Formats: sequence, structure tokens, C-alpha cells
Amino acid sequence: MATVSLKNIKKRFGDVTTLHGIDLEINDGEFVVFVGPSGCGKTTLLRTISGLEDISEGELQIGGVRMNELPPVKRGIAMVFQSYALYPHMSVFENMAFGLRLAGMSKKDYTPIVQQVAKVLQLDHLLERKPKELSGGQRQRVAIGRAIVQKPEVFLFDEPLSNLDASLRVQMRIEIARLHRELGATMIYVTHDQVEAMTLADRIVVFRAGQLEQVGTPTELYHEPINLFVAGFLGSPGMNFLSGTISSIGADGVQVALTGNQNVTVLVDAAGAKVGDAVTVGVRPEHLHVDLTSNVLTGNAVVLERLGDSSVLYLDNAAAKVPMSVRMPALRHVDIGQRVPLGFKPAHGYLFNADGKAFRR
Ligand code: ATP
Repeated sequence: MATVSLKNIKKRFGDVTTLHGIDLEINDGEFVVFVGPSGCGKTTLLRTISGLEDISEGELQIGGVRMNELPPVKRGIAMVFQSYALYPHMSVFENMAFGLRLAGMSKKDYTPIVQQVAKVLQLDHLLERKPKELSGGQRQRVAIGRAIVQKPEVFLFDEPLSNLDASLRVQMRIEIARLHRELGATMIYVTHDQVEAMTLADRIVVFRAGQLEQVGTPTELYHEPINLFVAGFLGSPGMNFLSGTISSIGADGVQVALTGNQNVTVLVDAAGAKVGDAVTVGVRPEHLHVDLTSNVLTGNAVVLERLGDSSVLYLDNAAAKVPMSVRMPALRHVDIGQRVPLGFKPAHGYLFNADGKAFRR
């Protein structure tokens, strides 16, 4: 059973603490994605799990066995890096066989394993090539193949697709999802890509400054972020935020007087809130609509980005002078500079207290 259990994991580099005590239980066969801003410690945590970095404090267990003192090769893990880390002088075959050879397996034994994995990854016709004779996507498949042949119980991926162009990323993303289904292995995956996180993860872990902010399914995190940070981090473009003060609390929701004389109602559980409290209202770009007459916020159009299947309109909120974004149907036209009234339903609004904590919806 390849459960991965992190108990109060801390990591210090000299005087600087990078991980401040991470507690996380990863289930056998689960696909967990780590996200968070640059420098928050995602790669460091992956490297402490792999054994490439030692653990300053806390305990790591894989399959219920303490791993802190074990070297990487004894942990039953394989890691796939952003840089592929292939040996340039070795052929694809040799690269893929490297770990098995190192473990003492004979050529007779590892050849059929490498051939079978190469076939699954559609690399079988490239086995004699050197890495420099491959495309980026093919190189990354070799790196993944090299991990698979070792039959690890846990795969660690550190931004494996970020050097690939957009269409290859999509192909490889689907490939990784398929591999996860077929291999049933536990996978831990670091990415900056929201789509990869949302589509691949059973659960997403959001980190901030060496600490864990929230863990949940992609849907939970997207719809029920626990605070402003998580709400703003997931979603592209990000959630719109407007600050204000609670003006009344009733059965139909919490009324907020926003900066610049705009009044909106947000349907949340108001436990702990009182009139006069400073709050932030949040609305996702897909929940603002030109034709809705509730909770209208007026913006001046700044940029219209056409994405093909939809467009994103960026505006300046006329009253509060803050930027906003709204997702619109692809064919809708808006002139730059035009005043655009945008409404949202009270049930679609989010509300955060002065500490950034979300009210339950
Ligand atoms: P990114 O998304 O940019 O890859 P990350 O979340 O993976 O960032 P890490 O690479 O884990 O972040 O780095 C976390 C912090 O630890 C950073 O402040 C980084 O400078 C620091 N750090 C990482 N490795 C070392 C090291 N070997 N020595 C000292 N500090 C380090």
C-alpha cells in the first residue's frame, strides 16, 4: 500500500525555514497536485519525499514505513523532472533501462520490460535514438518511461510538462491521466498550470509560504475556498474582489456597501458577522453577466481578449477604481471605454472577513 504520510515535516536551509510543518495524508493510488506561488516550497517538499533533500524535522512514511533515513533508491519512488534529466550520451533504450541496470537487473530481464513500456508510450520506434534526436514531448515520454519501468509505488512529478508547447501539454496531460488510471500508483504532481491541477487531481493541495492553506477536491477548492488567498489563487482569470462594509444582515443575505457607493447582497451564512464589519466581496469572472440586474457593478471596458470559445473582458470598476474581469460569450462585442453594467446573483457571491477568512456559503 503506497500511502504517503507527512507528519509535521519541516525543512530548513541554514537559518531559513522553507517548510513550516506540513501534515498531509495521501491515499494509496491517489493523484495529489501541489500548487502555490513561486517559492512557497512545493519542489522542496517533493524533494524531501524523494530523499533528494533530508528532512529537518517531522516524519515521512510511505506504505506505513518510516523513510526519513532511507536513500532515494530504497523508497519505492520515481521522480520525473521538468528538465527531463536524460543522459545525453545514452540511447532512449539505455536511458529507460538505467535504473533497472543500476538495481542489478540483467539485460535479458530488463529488455522486455523496457520494450513493453516503450510500446505503451509509443517510443518503441525511437529506442536507438539519442535524446538530442527527439522532440520535447518524446523526451518527456522517455523520462516518464524511465520512471514507469521501475514500477514505483509512488510517482513524483515536478512540473513535467512546463517545457512543452500548448498542444503537446494537452496530449501529455491526457497521457498522464491514462497512466494513472492504468498503473493505479500514487502520484504527487507539482504544477503552475491551473488546468493540469484541476483536471488531473483527485485532491489539490494549496501551499503558501511553506505552509498548507487548503486541501480538497478541485471542485471543493474552486467553490468553497476557505480564504481570500485560495479564492484568488485558483481560477483564471482570478476572482474579482471588492472591499466594503456590512450594512445589514437579513434572511436574504448579507448586504454590503462597497467602496464607491455600490450596494450588493451576498447569500452566505453570516455567523460571526455584524453590521459595520469590513469585508471583501468576491465574484468569479464567469458569474458576472451583462444582462443580470441584481448586484450591478459598473465597469469601463479596458481590454477584450478573444479566446475563441469565449472572451475575457477586463474593466476598471467605475466606482471603486479596481480592476475586474468577466468571462463573456465569444461573439459578444464591447467597445473599449464603454461603460458596462455587470450583475451577479447573490448565491454566486463570496464574502471574506477582515482576516480574509471565507464565510460559509
Ligand atoms: P517554484 O514554483 O518557483 O518552483 P517552489 O514552490 O517549488 O517554487 P521551492 O523551490 O521549494 O519553491 O523553494 C522554496 C524556498 O526554499 C525558496 O525560497 C527557495 O529559495 C528556498 N530554497 C530551495 N532550495 C534551497 C537550497 N538548496 N538552499 C537554500 N534555499 C533553498
